[in-house]
Parts: sequence; structure tokens; C-alpha cells
Amino acid sequence: MEGTLLGRGWQVAAVEGLIEGDRPDPAHVHAILVDAASVDTNSVSAWLNAEGKKLEIPLVMAPDLAHAEGLAVELEAEEIPEVSGGRNIVRFWGVRGSIPSPGPDTAFYGGNTSCVELCVDGQLIILDAGSGIRTLGMNLMGRAAASKQPLEMYLLISHTHWDHIQGLPFFVPAYVPTNKLHVLGYSAVRHHLAEILAMQMEPTYFPISMDDMPSHPDVHEVDDHFEIGPVKAIAFFTNHPGRCAGFRFETSSGSVAYVSDNEINHDGQATHLPRETAAHLMQRMVDTLHGVRVLIHDAQYTRAEYQSKVGWGHSAVEDAVEMAGAAGVERLVLFHHDPMRTDADLNRIVRTARELAAKHGWSMRVDAAREGMEIHL
Ligand SMILES: [Zn+2]
Ligand SMILES: [Zn+2]
Repeated sequence: MEGTLLGRGWQVAAVEGLIEGDRPDPAHVHAILVDAASVDTNSVSAWLNAEGKKLEIPLVMAPDLAHAEGLAVELEAEEIPEVSGGRNIVRFWGVRGSIPSPGPDTAFYGGNTSCVELCVDGQLIILDAGSGIRTLGMNLMGRAAASKQPLEMYLLISHTHWDHIQGLPFFVPAYVPTNKLHVLGYSAVRHHLAEILAMQMEPTYFPISMDDMPSHPDVHEVDDHFEIGPVKAIAFFTNHPGRCAGFRFETSSGSVAYVSDNEINHDGQATHLPRETAAHLMQRMVDTLHGVRVLIHDAQYTRAEYQSKVGWGHSAVEDAVEMAGAAGVERLVLFHHDPMRTDADLNRIVRTARELAAKHGWSMRVDAAREGMEIHL
């Protein structure tokens, strides 16, 4: 771990253990990394208790090298300008595409499928109901208990592929009768949105039907332009098999766009759409995303991988960077990571993406979405 960080240009003060006289001094370091593979966690808590005050710097238990590297990647990003912090928050609960992929190799970035929370201008907006919505639900239950208020939630569904709806039956706040859940999205070509959501809860697949959810979620089609309280939103189609929506939100502290599944056809080639249609859609999307403060965008493949996956509806990291740069985006968050992608892969990918943005001379900050990550608008 020490070698990894030194290799990245960090200054490292390594101590062998947490014995008296050899403990790190929190006043003189930016972060403390603990190699959890060799340091006993009890001795860490004993040391923290001995400190007797709140530790104001990050303390990270890193179970392996990929975690240590992942942290280095995040710390490096402090050098890259960030949008100013405010009360409006974007939180990531599921960042993976296609299928949940938990395990030791994905523990740093997380294995849950798409779910992002926007806590903006007093509204609770949830983007997609992948498996990440389960942990969001537990967290919301805690917040509701603390505030003693029922929850009013707006769940926007980009499309009904499994990785975007599979968490809904496990979303505990929907089982509380006093809560209100509004579900918004586009209907698919053959079925209405409400039908599709209900279908995955038919007895063959799940013991409780959607009609039996005590909060009785209401399901509506979105218009191209709509409002959630003071938040103005635009919905637009992306290049993805079936019907898939992207969204742009204007909040009091800047704009956020969510484009979870979208194929940028780098060479102008046909995708599942004819060449001209795909090109037209992309140009319209660049216009729609112009100047957005935070763009969350599909980055499932690398450009090399993309060549064998044309028409599958997902983008290469490099194309996401170049499209965001062309649209004048302030901050790009790479999203919908391939289930095969390990933490170590993603560390490498973020660095490559940042180098590409720098090569173009863009000041745009680039990060990979990670479960638990928060962006303060
Ligand atoms: Zn997806
Ligand atoms: Zn999809």
C-alpha cells in the first residue's frame, strides 16, 4: 500500500502498528489509511478512543490494494476544480449496469445496480430503482423516523430493463401506508409503465403484488418538460434499445443530468438505430446537456471493448468524456459500470479519462460513480 501511494507521488508516513509512541498524529496528515489485512480493527478503535476527540480527517480501512488505490484516485481529484458545495445533494446508491455484482473485487465502487438520489430544493427525487434502491430505502426509513414525517418521493424510471427496476419490490418506504411514492417515466413500446412494474411483482416472480404495496404508488407518464416542486426537469430519449429516457434538472444551485444508458456512436456508425437517426439524436443530446453542472453518464465499456458491442446501447468511457467536453459539462460522473469491471480496473479507467479531458484542455472534473459518493451542488 505504501509503495502504491509513493508511486502516485504522495508523501507517506508509515507506521508499523498502533502502539504507543508510534501512532500517527491526526494534526499533521490529510488522511489515515489502515491496512485492514494486517492491522487488527480492535486496536484501531482503541486508538481512536484514546485520541479522545473527534477525528476530523478521513480514516479509511482499506482491506486490499485496490481500495488503497481507489482512495488515491479520489484524493488526486482534490486537485481538480469542483463545483462549489451547497445544500443540494446528489447521492449514489447503485452505480453498476446490467446485473448486481457484489464481491471483494467490486467492494470499493460497489456492486448495486442504478439508483441515484437527488435531495434538491426540498424535493426527494430518486433516479431508477436498481438494487441500490434497497439501501436507499433503509436510509430513508431512518430519516423519516428522525423527522417523524412521512416521506414524499418522486421515483423517475429511465427505462424498464431489469437493472433499473429490480430493486423496487425491496423498497421498504413503499410498504409504509402514510408515505407517498410517485413513479414517473415513459411507457415501453408494447406495455404501459405501470403494467411492466406490476409484472415483475406477479406471483411467479414475487410474493407481494404492486397493488398490495401499502403506500399505493401512483405511476404516471412524464412529459418532455415537467416540474417537481420548484425543480424544473426535461426528459429526452437516449440511444438505447427500447425506449430509454435521460433527464436534466434545474435546481436553485445548478443543473444535474442523468443519462444512465446511452450509446454514443463514436464513428457515426449505425447502432440499433440507423446512422442518421443516431447522429441526429446525439446532436440534440449535446444541445440539451449544454453547460450542465453535473452529468451522470453511461461509461460501460472502453473504446476497445465497444467495437464488439455496437448496438447494445452503451457508451465507451472515452466517448462519454468527449461528448461531455463538447457539451461544456463542468463535472462528469462515469456511471453504469460493467459488472465485469473490478475496482482496480475502474481506478485505471478514471485516470485514463482524466488524462483524456486534460489532453483536450478541458477543466471538466471526471470521477467514477461510487456507492456512498455525494456531490454537493
Ligand atoms: Zn442499464
Ligand atoms: Zn438498459
